[in-house]
Amino acid sequence: MSYALPEFLAHAVALEQEAADRYLELADMMEAHRNDGVSSVFRDMTRFSEMHRDEIKARVASIELPRLKSWEYRWSSPPEVGGEEGFDYLMEPYHALKYARANELRAMEYYRSVEQAATDAEVKRLAKAFAEEETEHVAALDKWIALTPRPSTTWQDDPDPLPPPV
Ligand code: ZN
Repeated sequence: MSYALPEFLAHAVALEQEAADRYLELADMMEAHRNDGVSSVFRDMTRFSEMHRDEIKARVASIELPRLKSWEYRWSSPPEVGGEEGFDYLMEPYHALKYARANELRAMEYYRSVEQAATDAEVKRLAKAFAEEETEHVAALDKWIALTPRPSTTWQDDPDPLPPPV
């Protein structure tokens, strides 16, 4: 897909906005289940997405962004199930992190494909920079996934039990 610059930036803003929305949902979900560590990871990711969105908007303050009728990149639905049940599936921090990682990876691939197809030099340059940023997000999530117990761990074996009520 070869974009004109305003069209590309409109997509990037939409992409960051959607990521911020999904991360906020995941953060709230983890918080409700007292997974404060993972919740704070998602709050950070929310903030990064919002910052990136605002940077793009500030950079292009003078350009009028087109309204998107549709766009090529969206977060995928949770795996295996849709709707509310999909969110149940994500109650495990491990699954929520893997879900986020899969979407970051898709965002990276999206920017890479834009970079490769770009005929506009500025679109190419920005898409490359954004792809690199997404690569860092994937790496950050990988670190957390490595620290997160797999859900096959039984309840009794939970290495990080809930704190006792105060
Ligand atoms: Zn990202």
